[in-house]
Amino acid sequence: MKKSYLIVGQGIAGSCLGLQLENQGHNVNFIDNHHQNAASLVAAGLINPITGKRIVKSWNVDILLPYAINFYHKIAQDFQVNLVYPLNIIRLLHNQMEENDWESRTSIDDLKAYVVENEENNWLKNIKIPFSYGEITQSYRIDIGLLIKNYKNKLIHNNQIQFHPFDFQSIIFNNNSVAYQKKEYDGIIFCEGAQMSANPFFNYLPLKPTKGEALFVNYPFEFPKIIKNKTAFVPLGKNEYWIGGTNDWNDQNNEPTLEKQTLMQQEWHELLYPNLFSIQNHRAAIRPATKDRFPFLGKHPEHPNLFIFNGFGTKATLLTPYLSNHFVDFLTKNTSLMQEVNCNRFN
Ligand SMILES: Cc1cc2nc3c(=O)[nH]c(=O)nc-3n(C[C@H](O)[C@H](O)[C@H](O)COP(=O)(O)OP(=O)(O)OC[C@H]3O[C@@H](n4cnc5c(N)ncnc54)[C@H](O)[C@@H]3O)c2cc1C
Repeated sequence: MKKSYLIVGQGIAGSCLGLQLENQGHNVNFIDNHHQNAASLVAAGLINPITGKRIVKSWNVDILLPYAINFYHKIAQDFQVNLVYPLNIIRLLHNQMEENDWESRTSIDDLKAYVVENEENNWLKNIKIPFSYGEITQSYRIDIGLLIKNYKNKLIHNNQIQFHPFDFQSIIFNNNSVAYQKKEYDGIIFCEGAQMSANPFFNYLPLKPTKGEALFVNYPFEFPKIIKNKTAFVPLGKNEYWIGGTNDWNDQNNEPTLEKQTLMQQEWHELLYPNLFSIQNHRAAIRPATKDRFPFLGKHPEHPNLFIFNGFGTKATLLTPYLSNHFVDFLTKNTSLMQEVNCNRFN
């Protein structure tokens, strides 16, 4: 049966969810606060299958990654744009201990599919490699900013989006539905990113907002792969690069800081030719990270027509395609949610 939803927030989470609902024949309307402080418009959109100091596979990556890449290819085809950039990651190793860890971890069968050895990388002669490096494959940059922009234009064209802050007082609760601004919906789904801390219905969930900053720079060499040090150096094409992201758990505003700019500048001045490097832009946003590092999916414990799809932390690009499909099944076919992501784990 065709259902109708109001989605609050058209970042990558709301966009994936709206696209999936529409693909399955349901109606969606959006409210977005002019994409104010949207983390999705600051992020690089990277998918890195092997992460962390402990060199481990991302949660469920064997299933989530192929699903995500198919999904983004399909959306790219629909919008007739390029969204998917396969880019290996050169992970810099700083000493013998890091190299030993890399070799022992990546020799495990489970990780082998995500690593390449003995690739020719002549271009790396332009980088001061600290000690050595490992190379990750099946990694991508997804142009999530372009996806959001194209979907926004389509929503504007079809009169499906309004730009203003959501008014929580205006929700009218009916027996099996909710109404907002005189329109009735099967549900309102909140996809507000880190701004969910201002949502009176869901701010009981343990968000751990993390500020991230990014520099947009020009550099006159074409690097064909991502370089991952403390921060990442990500090719965007035409000698433009994205550098980021930093982490700050205390500072909770969206203003870029001189402190983080200096840190990133120093880091990359040591690895590249510093006088050839020019900063074009510097941006900051808050990631909707969660205390247990798993997203928040599900329904409000007392209002069964209010839903949340949020908390994608540092991995929204990988997680949101698969989990939006999983969530649509939950919404429209009454299937159950995976317990790791079900927000009822905090009820
Ligand atoms: C520097 C940096 C680098 C990052 N790099 C990556 C990366 O490489 N890969 C990756 O996967 N993730 C990355 N992330 C994390 C990623 O950006 C986030 O997880 C993701 O963007 C969250 O998407 P979202 O849709 O939940 O929230 P957002 O993108 O923040 O979108 C929320 C939307 O909701 C709207 N909104 C909020 N409240 C209201 C309201 N009350 N009324 C109306 N509208 C409202 C906002 O205007 C916004 O448009 C990075 C983050 C940062 C800051």
